[in-house]
Amino acid sequence: MAGTIIVANRLPVSVELKDEGKFAIKESIGGLATGLKSVHAEKDSFWIGWSAIDADDLNAERKTVIDETLIKKHRCLPIYLDKEEIENFYYGYCNKTIWPLFHYFPNMTTWEHEHWESYLRVNRKFYKALEKHLRRDTTVWVHDYQLMLLPGMIRESHPNVKIGFFLHIPFPSYEIFRLLPMREEVLHGILGADLIGFHTYDYVRHFFSSTRRLLGYENSFGKISLGNRLAKVDAFPMGIDYERYNRAGKVGKIRENTHKLLDETSGKQIVLSVDRLDYTKGIPQRIKAFSKFLELNPQYVEKVHLIVIAAPSREEVDYYAELKREVEELVSEVNGRHGRIGWMPVWFFYQSFSFTELAALYRGSDVMLVTPLRDGMNLVVKEYIACRKDHRGVVILSETAGASSELSETIAVNPNDINAIADAIREALEMPIYQQLHRNKILHERLKRYTVKHWAKDFLHKLSENAFGALHTKTIWIHKESGIGIVNKFKSSKKRLLILDYDGTLTPLRQLPEMARPSKDLLQLLRRLGRNKNTTVLICSGRSRQDMQQWFGSLPVDLSAEHGIWIRSAGEKWVQHLVLKDDWKALIKPVIESYVDRTPKSFIEEKTLGLAWHYRRCEPDQAHVRLNELRDTLMEYIQNRNLCLLEGNKVLEVRDVNASKGNIVNLWLQKQHWDFVLCAGDDVTDEEMFKVLPSKAYSIKVGTESSDARYHVKDCAALLELLNHL
Ligand code: UDP
Repeated sequence: MAGTIIVANRLPVSVELKDEGKFAIKESIGGLATGLKSVHAEKDSFWIGWSAIDADDLNAERKTVIDETLIKKHRCLPIYLDKEEIENFYYGYCNKTIWPLFHYFPNMTTWEHEHWESYLRVNRKFYKALEKHLRRDTTVWVHDYQLMLLPGMIRESHPNVKIGFFLHIPFPSYEIFRLLPMREEVLHGILGADLIGFHTYDYVRHFFSSTRRLLGYENSFGKISLGNRLAKVDAFPMGIDYERYNRAGKVGKIRENTHKLLDETSGKQIVLSVDRLDYTKGIPQRIKAFSKFLELNPQYVEKVHLIVIAAPSREEVDYYAELKREVEELVSEVNGRHGRIGWMPVWFFYQSFSFTELAALYRGSDVMLVTPLRDGMNLVVKEYIACRKDHRGVVILSETAGASSELSETIAVNPNDINAIADAIREALEMPIYQQLHRNKILHERLKRYTVKHWAKDFLHKLSENAFGALHTKTIWIHKESGIGIVNKFKSSKKRLLILDYDGTLTPLRQLPEMARPSKDLLQLLRRLGRNKNTTVLICSGRSRQDMQQWFGSLPVDLSAEHGIWIRSAGEKWVQHLVLKDDWKALIKPVIESYVDRTPKSFIEEKTLGLAWHYRRCEPDQAHVRLNELRDTLMEYIQNRNLCLLEGNKVLEVRDVNASKGNIVNLWLQKQHWDFVLCAGDDVTDEEMFKVLPSKAYSIKVGTESSDARYHVKDCAALLELLNHL
């Protein structure tokens, strides 16, 4: 039985296939593996991830031996991807759709439906592997953009499992994210988690903006309310294994060419650049900026080198091969232009360097040039600082790297501004030692404190907190047993009253009120309940009398429209229950109309004794500002009049204080001596009903907001399921 399960695209170990059925397993020293080492070291935890072996290359026997070794010795459960999945899931949806789009490269993004289908299938494959190990008390931590659907899949079948999700790349702004064809599915997938982590608060804001604008979910105090639960969203900037880099003392085992490089460049100042070769890293811009720097500062000719290390990456994707060509051409152009006999300004290495080699280069470099066009975090910059035990060296850091929000003592640059980077290179090379020491001391303190281990601990600690699991501690959710209790009580009673709100209670809220027509099933249900001679059904709505008559006129149920102004008993005529003046409308309508004019997609609804401003379809931030303004304005108008303001679900209504659903419920309660009363509603206006009910009544709130109701159900479907059992 597993306590914590880590699920990531890759395992923390790699399997190397050798001849004659042999294989070797090597531990990975990547950031994630290091950070989660202590979590993974616990006896009852394990890690699920892609073995990075092509399943088509293995026969069943060899696969079994590898699986057993990984499980027993490393507590790793490998997932195998076949050629199609590697092509369509990994190189396709992950690296040709999500990666470029989330890094703000929409022009390089491809949208292939078969890539999406493969993404869905592989996420399901991970789920199937995970499913067998899930228990009620399991904590699952899902990582990164390859598995964004997985939290939702787990939640669907295991509502009580604790799920964390961390995205290691940027979450883009709404304007970019909305371009993704399957955007809603992706958001729902992520929202399956209880805790959703990003590197920076900007990504958190973007996520909130997308969930709000695409799914209509509101957030407050860092939490998104999702029916019967909350998802917490927060920033956890990932750190590095500071001690390991800081300790990387004397040069260890490094290759000949690295030695040579360090020897040949000694006596010159070094500007270092280290990345995977990726178009998000801004490598060409960086080389151009160095060229510009030499052009503007000829005194540095023969005095400084730029060392560019680009580790090979995703070579199967066309853009990466093109980028390699572009960088090589640029390097030879700059060297050809500025070089001298015995001095080559740019040294370019298209190869992967080991930890010890990188540490040696970090320590030997005066300036670290980190100018990605977009980067989720960027660990290289942190590694460089940590390696400089002497607290020297200057970092030039792109504003669009996640690390920039934490490391404000670096020189910040716009990665597209070649001149600004050129100026920054000069500033960095000339920065006085005392200033370097001062800046780096602060940076070291931060990196020492918020290490990758601390990051993992912090995330898991937040995930273990119960504070955001349930919405309201006093909330009682109708579950199987309490539902049966209500049904049994209904069956044993003789005089039953069912009071039901309509919009948001019997039918889900729609973009436009006229779209929320009752379904055939609902009408059938209401007819069946209304025909029961011991049962009275009252639909108590804020809707107009015309709508109510058109939809429910022929049913054997009682009706109340416009918050109790109009009432109708089953089979009888409509009666105006309240006869009130409406001369105030002429005064207030133009005010609301002026807000309709200024707020696209909002509209006004005129009722017999009410005026409602609807803003469900509006841009949420704009609607929020306008709502506050309109509320303030209307407050002045309603003073000293018999009017009140009512805020419903994306609607602000002015109406006569005497029009209230509470009055109607009181009226019906007095009609008989009921021995069973059930009342359901979703909106603030329905609270008036809950307030006047006798204590034994079953009051049910549809949704999560706090309420005077005794019970809650998640949504309309859950309420209808209960009603169907009556
Ligand atoms: N790295 C490496 N050898 C190289 C180049 C890079 O081991 O030749 C490592 C580097 O030390 C860092 C990681 O690759 O830990 C790159 O992480 P980063 O967050 O900077 O960028 P990413 O590749 O994740 O986009």
